[in-house]
Amino acid sequence: MPAGEMPLKAARFDVAISGASFAGLALACALSDALGADFKIALIDRVADVAARPHARAFALSAASIHLLDAIGVWQVIAEHAQPVTGIDITDTSLEAGVRPVLLSYDNSTEAGEPATYIVPVGPLTAALRAKADSLPSITLLAPADAVGFTTDEAGVRIRLADGRDIEASLIVAADGRRSPLREAAGIKVIGWSYAQTGIVTTVRHDRPHDGRAVQHFLPNGPFAILPLTGNRACITWTEDAREATRILALDDAGYLAEVEKRFGGKLGTIALDGPRQSWPLELHLARRYVAPRFALLGDAAHGVHPLAGQGLNLAFRDVAALVEVVAENVRIGFDAGDAQALIRYERWRRFDSAISAATFDGINRLFAADATPLRSIREIGLGLVDRTPALKRFFVGEAAGLNGNLPRLLRGEAV
Ligand SMILES: Cc1cc2nc3c(=O)[nH]c(=O)nc-3n(C[C@H](O)[C@H](O)[C@H](O)COP(=O)(O)OP(=O)(O)OC[C@H]3O[C@@H](n4cnc5c(N)ncnc54)[C@H](O)[C@@H]3O)c2cc1C
Repeated sequence: MPAGEMPLKAARFDVAISGASFAGLALACALSDALGADFKIALIDRVADVAARPHARAFALSAASIHLLDAIGVWQVIAEHAQPVTGIDITDTSLEAGVRPVLLSYDNSTEAGEPATYIVPVGPLTAALRAKADSLPSITLLAPADAVGFTTDEAGVRIRLADGRDIEASLIVAADGRRSPLREAAGIKVIGWSYAQTGIVTTVRHDRPHDGRAVQHFLPNGPFAILPLTGNRACITWTEDAREATRILALDDAGYLAEVEKRFGGKLGTIALDGPRQSWPLELHLARRYVAPRFALLGDAAHGVHPLAGQGLNLAFRDVAALVEVVAENVRIGFDAGDAQALIRYERWRRFDSAISAATFDGINRLFAADATPLRSIREIGLGLVDRTPALKRFFVGEAAGLNGNLPRLLRGEAV
């Protein structure tokens, strides 16, 4: 019998989560760890097994995100597939420039000596989260099942599945991605815009070792990031003008590789494609509210940021850590999981931080996309200044590590 048709283990759940991708899986595992086997969680996804989807992607995950993955017991499995980033080189040139001087270069270790960032392939990350969720008796996975709407009253929330089943819970969390059907059902509006840019992702093999260094080439059409993977491989995360991206993506392998080579530079020797190409239209969106009675938004359902700093999933994991902390504290003193005060605390904690991040990455994208000479000079002076100022470099490494600000306990490596 498919998992989605299995009888429900509990007639009523404490928390139901729509979306069993990165954010939803991590939330279910962290809640279960914090509140034990009696705390019942329903995890719903329209896809039977998200871990079985094809992936070209790898994520730049911050030290804070790694602390969370470690706390829920999956980092041990993922670590052998993850590449620590030892240093970062930033360049800012036109596409035609023969030489790309490095304008800013820094070591990527935190003050505690741990890597500020790891590059983690999507496949092992999803598989580890899914295996952990499958092993926890408090989690009931309903997949494939489409959560299409919900109604709330004082006693709880009733979630409607497209196959006609209803489930009841104290709290429903929408971790159902950037188009979030439940956000729409809740009537929560989003603000944002499309970038007229496309994110292209590809894996390549190269001759020479990368020594763990990541490279960010700011090109006029958008940043071209070379993220080191284990072995002599790298994941390219490339922002391109939408029309140019359509042309490039339609090329055959030889033509496509030539476009990658033009941007990659020759430092790592000859390169070859090592996986499929994938692409995403890029946009910024922020939900006007993150909560409603017995309802919370999480991850891309709440916010979508420009991928140039590789922070979308890191922000989602911050949401996870904050929501687990406020819900666990409230449940332990006798409130139910959908208590309004806890949800308000969650929104206050997370909405401002996500809005600042979205605005910062948007600003960087605009600043580096401008090719006018005065702006190029200002950028060069700014990057040069950071390069010569150790305190500023330390601040930026702290930001990349996700360790600045008012952090929930899981991101500090502490149990909830
Ligand atoms: C090109 C690119 C590069 C990126 N690189 C990075 C990076 O390096 N580092 C980083 O931190 N972030 C990065 N991001 C951002 C990252 O991909 C997202 O932030 C992350 O995928 C969000 O995860 P999520 O679990 O919130 O949503 P999703 O992964 O979108 O999952 C949503 C889930 O909800 C399910 N669903 C949808 N509707 C329903 C429904 N009605 N019922 C049940 N289930 C439903 C879907 O099947 C899916 O499994 C990048 C993004 C792009 C586009």
